[in-house]
Amino acid sequence: MQEPRSAGALGSEFPYTLATMCYIEVARDGSVRWGNDTSTYERALAGDSRLYAVWPGQWSSHLFVIDDLDQYAGAFGIVHDPERTGLADHEHQIRWAVSPYEDKPNGAYISIDVWLDCGCEIRDLPAFAKQMRDQRGWDIATTSGWGGSVSNTERRYSLRARRKSLA
Ligand SMILES: [Zn+2]
Repeated sequence: MQEPRSAGALGSEFPYTLATMCYIEVARDGSVRWGNDTSTYERALAGDSRLYAVWPGQWSSHLFVIDDLDQYAGAFGIVHDPERTGLADHEHQIRWAVSPYEDKPNGAYISIDVWLDCGCEIRDLPAFAKQMRDQRGWDIATTSGWGGSVSNTERRYSLRARRKSLA
């Protein structure tokens, strides 16, 4: 038999949001449930439960203890994590333009180029999309491809966004 491994020790190597990750919650009274919901973090933080996860591998699976709840909360966007997302928790200074490569500029979703003059970097698109929805009402697509390019003078991001949400 083996002890569960520490998820916290793996830091950002631990894929918290992997779709096949199986979370197991052991309540104080010993009852066991699996999955995770919006209040899993609160229960674990309050000490009402302990959280484990089975990380499935191709040949074998391993049990981890979720012992760094800050990492867990950051990965799921429950708590904003500037380090992991590259994004400060502030009102971003944004410049943007319709991409010169957009061939359907009147479509529902269009490609845009974005520059963050505040110095932030986009490392986590869902986190950036959430901030932009809150700050400007933008509806950024998080399922389609996106990218960034860095030159000596600037860092530009190419994103897809719902045209009518852009202002
Ligand atoms: Zn910023």
